Amino acid sequence: MSTPPRIAFFGLGIMGIGMARRLLKAGYAVSVYNRNQSKSAPLAAEGARVANSPADAARGADILIGMLSDDAASRAVWLGADGALASTSPGAILIEGSTLSVAWVRELNSAAEARGCRLLDAPVTGTKPHAANGELTFLVGGEPTALEIARPVLAAMSKDIIHLGPTGSGAALKLINNFFCGVQATALAEALALLDRAGLDQKTALPVLLNGAPGSPLVKTLTARHAAADYTPNFLLRLMAKDLAYAVNEGKEHNLTLATATAALATFKHAIDAGHGEEDMSAVIKYVGQSKTLTE
Ligand code: NAP
Repeated sequence: MSTPPRIAFFGLGIMGIGMARRLLKAGYAVSVYNRNQSKSAPLAAEGARVANSPADAARGADILIGMLSDDAASRAVWLGADGALASTSPGAILIEGSTLSVAWVRELNSAAEARGCRLLDAPVTGTKPHAANGELTFLVGGEPTALEIARPVLAAMSKDIIHLGPTGSGAALKLINNFFCGVQATALAEALALLDRAGLDQKTALPVLLNGAPGSPLVKTLTARHAAADYTPNFLLRLMAKDLAYAVNEGKEHNLTLATATAALATFKHAIDAGHGEEDMSAVIKYVGQSKTLTE
């Protein structure tokens, strides 16, 4: 592509809005689609073409990017009624930035190939501020030649682009990354609950954990958000439950029981049942602190 690629962007949620803005700021022509159209409006003022349907956004695009909740949302946008793929030009490159199951990524890849297109699974690490500031890391699966074409577009949204192997490789590493995070979050929640109930002085005890071996970047971030009682979502608690569920299933595909992820998933599901699904994932600390008793 000698002229800059025309881009279609699907999903203007917490992550997608920042990513689409980065593309507009980089000077790309971007068509945007969001199911709830009110989220598209601000981008019209910033130069985006607002589409009424995924199919409408896809028409004439060279590179199409999804940033959607889960497998069901991705399926609806690409293959559903008025879906994007049916009006995508053969030769276009699809990029799925959403965190999805490996099985769905492979199915979507087959559908893309049948249309004469190529798919990169390119989920991201980083959260809301990293999306807004172009500091994400893309974990990419798919053909290297497709990645080279898409690289400048991905670079406008990221600080790093890591090619991991064939289709599904990016999705697999992202699920491993996130189950590891979900397990840390529940371990932190239980550690803080016990610290509290054992009557330890938080000011003295907490720095031992945060500055010692358990004090990972995630543990530090979640502890700070909990300390500030700020549960406005950077990463929705219900989406972490989704990632844990996809990871547990992926483990089963490989005859591997992810026992820690299974336990973390149960805690996250309870937190959702208790009404915390629309809060930041750090609310799992609040949930565990409030709900568990020492005799459980
Ligand atoms: P979000 O704010 O909940 O946005 C989800 C997007 O998916 C919205 O645009 C939503 O549209 C759309 N959507 C949901 N169901 C749909 C359906 N059935 N049909 C069409 N569109 C649908 O989530 P997010 O935080 O931006 O996350 C997006 C993806 O990135 C997820 O896969 C998540 O796991 C992953 N991720 C998130 C983070 C993070 O820190 N937030 C970090 C890394 C990866 P509406 O506005 O109409 O609901």
